[in-house]
Amino acid sequence: MLEKSNHIIIIGAGIGGMTTALCLRHFGIKASLYERSSQVTTAGAGIQLSPNAHRVLSYIGLTDKIAAVSRRCKGVKIFDYKSDSQMALLDYLNFKSNDLFSFCHRADLVSILYEACKKQEIPVHFNKKFEKITDGKAIFSDGETLFADLIIGADGLHSNARKIVFGEVKAIFTKQIAWRAIVPNSINQCDFAHVILAPKRHIVSYPIRDGRQLNLVLIKEQNDWQPDGWRHLEDPSVVKENFKDFSGKTAKIIDSIEDVYKWGLFRYPLRKNWYKDRVVLIGDAAHPTLPFLAQGAAMAIEDSFVLASKFSEFPTILSAFTEFQSDRLPRVQRVINASAKNARTFHLSNTIARLVFHTILQLFSKFLPRLLLKRFNWIYDKDVTN
Ligand SMILES: Cc1cc2nc3c(=O)[nH]c(=O)nc-3n(C[C@H](O)[C@H](O)[C@H](O)COP(=O)(O)OP(=O)(O)OC[C@H]3O[C@@H](n4cnc5c(N)ncnc54)[C@H](O)[C@@H]3O)c2cc1C
Repeated sequence: MLEKSNHIIIIGAGIGGMTTALCLRHFGIKASLYERSSQVTTAGAGIQLSPNAHRVLSYIGLTDKIAAVSRRCKGVKIFDYKSDSQMALLDYLNFKSNDLFSFCHRADLVSILYEACKKQEIPVHFNKKFEKITDGKAIFSDGETLFADLIIGADGLHSNARKIVFGEVKAIFTKQIAWRAIVPNSINQCDFAHVILAPKRHIVSYPIRDGRQLNLVLIKEQNDWQPDGWRHLEDPSVVKENFKDFSGKTAKIIDSIEDVYKWGLFRYPLRKNWYKDRVVLIGDAAHPTLPFLAQGAAMAIEDSFVLASKFSEFPTILSAFTEFQSDRLPRVQRVINASAKNARTFHLSNTIARLVFHTILQLFSKFLPRLLLKRFNWIYDKDVTN
């Protein structure tokens, strides 16, 4: 087990970083967070919190706080873009009523984590952009240098900590771009996520906060490269043009888009080793995934608990790293693969393949609804705290 006197720093006070600090504290281990921004901020967007993520958040005592600001997800409805007709229903409420699945605003989740850190007296240092390690010391962009026995890189997709562990990694453009927007819930969408499928495109929408707003993510296949990152403002007319053949209620919400951001979707090759010397990576820094299963944050949250528990259990940092790695790699690999596969089935463009897929969806939804949900059991039933 780590010594009480060990100096542990976590780079990045995002979802994974703060959850890690809270999990470590749960095991009696102290750590400090170093965040490049001047406060805990996050993009104005929604996040789906699946039961596997909720189990960790519940373990660190945050369930009630999160429930107070989120909406319970009752299931997922899948629609065809042209007819606007419902093809399938994944009915969580009926078949998985004991599991908590919710829609949350990212800003709400991040501020709950931050308040919990403050309550636990976990130091969060702002305006601290981690640059590199020199002579065993962490170097920040303001010139501060810091010795640490252990550095946890939770600095997200564009991680600097990753460079220490992996070297320079080239991201591969997946030929898919995405837009995100928050629009008024003018169609009174209730507490189900909607997934609207079209050739080479799909849209996901779900209600957030008091239900008066919808979080929208629109994805389209496109060959040309887009700048990385996800804060590029887009002209709403570009989105409307790209999705103009969607009908019914989906057309109505597309029409109401005013502020919209775009980003390119990139794939990073999954490495087998997420640590080097005293640095270990978690979350998007270690293993970014495409957003087609809504599991990126859930994986960061699971990582947080598993890493903290290994530190409490194993005698050396190296043995904890090794155990963490072998525990997490197969699961993360499976999630990444399943997410990429979802993109392919969502975007089928061959008419016959689409027809077959949609018919199977409809039949399962009508006659074997429990079986349709069962496909996701390996993701949602996982309890890393157990
Ligand atoms: C459109 C979209 C929708 C998504 N929806 C879902 C969903 O519904 N459910 C889900 O589970 N996942 C979802 N994800 C994925 C999820 O957002 C990420 O996987 C998750 O935020 C990763 O958490 P993290 O802590 O690893 O990184 P982040 O949340 O990105 O946090 C990284 C933190 O590190 C800080 N930082 C960065 N660089 C430095 C540095 N050099 N020094 C110091 N600090 C630094 C950042 O400011 C930030 O605070 C979605 C992603 C996208 C793009």
